[in-house]
Amino acid sequence: MDIQRPDGAPRRHPHNPGSQQLHGSASLISATGTPANGPLADIPTWPELVVSPKNTSPAGRSIEKRRIRKHQLLNVIREHGPLSRADIAKISGYNLPSVSSLVDELVNDQIVLEEEARPTSRGRRPIPVLLNHKAATVLGIDLGTSATIGVLMNLSGEVLCRLETPTPEFPTPDSKADYIVDFAMRVLQRCPEPMAPLAGVGVGISGLIGTGRPSHQNSVIFEDRFQSLLSERLGVPALVKNDSQMLALGSLWFGSGAGYETFAVLNIAEGLGLGFVINRRVYRGAMGFAGDIGHTPMGDPGIPCYCGNTGCTENVASGNGILRLARQEGLEGIAIPELERLYYQGDERARRIFHRFTEVLGRAVATVVHLYNPEVVIVAGRWAPESAIYFDQLKQESALHMRPSLVESTAMFPCKLREDAVPRGSAASVLHHIFSAAHVDLEEVL
Ligand SMILES: [Zn+2]
Repeated sequence: MDIQRPDGAPRRHPHNPGSQQLHGSASLISATGTPANGPLADIPTWPELVVSPKNTSPAGRSIEKRRIRKHQLLNVIREHGPLSRADIAKISGYNLPSVSSLVDELVNDQIVLEEEARPTSRGRRPIPVLLNHKAATVLGIDLGTSATIGVLMNLSGEVLCRLETPTPEFPTPDSKADYIVDFAMRVLQRCPEPMAPLAGVGVGISGLIGTGRPSHQNSVIFEDRFQSLLSERLGVPALVKNDSQMLALGSLWFGSGAGYETFAVLNIAEGLGLGFVINRRVYRGAMGFAGDIGHTPMGDPGIPCYCGNTGCTENVASGNGILRLARQEGLEGIAIPELERLYYQGDERARRIFHRFTEVLGRAVATVVHLYNPEVVIVAGRWAPESAIYFDQLKQESALHMRPSLVESTAMFPCKLREDAVPRGSAASVLHHIFSAAHVDLEEVL
């Protein structure tokens, strides 16, 4: 497939080794029984753009080190461009000959564009370079319990297309991977032509996504195994994390958390999750299970949970919690937007439901604030109710359980992206692996 050059003329992209693998996976049968086919075999890819830690031989280490430096310079250009090569050297701390050589490669790859040279008083004509945000695309997917949402973005985070479909039942863990591959292809099919090469796919999944070795625990998806399975089928790197951790990463990249060092994001979906950013890095815990706040015991006591315990916080403070409270009030089968409508009409049952919801969510917020002392708590997720209903009430409820100095020093606000916050965060995970290179320990490859 031809891609758009900056000057508008089509050309064949040099980085397209993944198209063969995509062609191979085009025969997969999805969980819904629909074969993926057609133009997807021609989707251009650029898998080398995503930086992954590699175990290289001593001889390969200097090549890997150079590659990581190139991505660090790319990030300097993204954050501060247009910049001359001399300015890039100054900001990055690397020497000018090395910077010039790496920037030349970036220009050659067309991920960086050269502006017209600017005359200076001393007669030198430095050529500023800037990021070509149309050079590649990244795909973010939220595999939710009830709905799957995918967004395709360019390198500046602009959404190029979006797809939302109901999530089917999965008879086996591998059928989940089949479904993700098929869904990714359906999103890409909707992309306006011509499409820039796809660099990678991020997938946020609710529940426990483990970073350790696979064990007998059937409820855990093991990240490495699942990522390799998806990467192989998609032909580009796939990054899999818990949905709330993806949400936190998205908030860090281009959401409400962009200006903060340390913050918490509550993810009110079918369940309740927590993403936590400490010093601008998502905290995942020893096994990747950090943030499972929905299964702390602050909910209605005695109510059994699918996790095997009772009294879990998400039996009240979540989308499913709201619906359970609605059933208790005799409102069987009602949808949350309908409950919000009843609330605004002054319905006493809806008032009781949202009051109980904010009461328990407030305790969860107070717990998070006391444990981690974040600068801000962001309340996000598909079923974060219309903020006008509960936000002031939530602040009051959480303040009841917080020390006064923490109430004064902790900001709290809603995230307006609602159901798109997780898929955007999943796409941000790929951007993070293109630009930040912060996930790679440079010392390990030296
Ligand atoms: Zn539970």
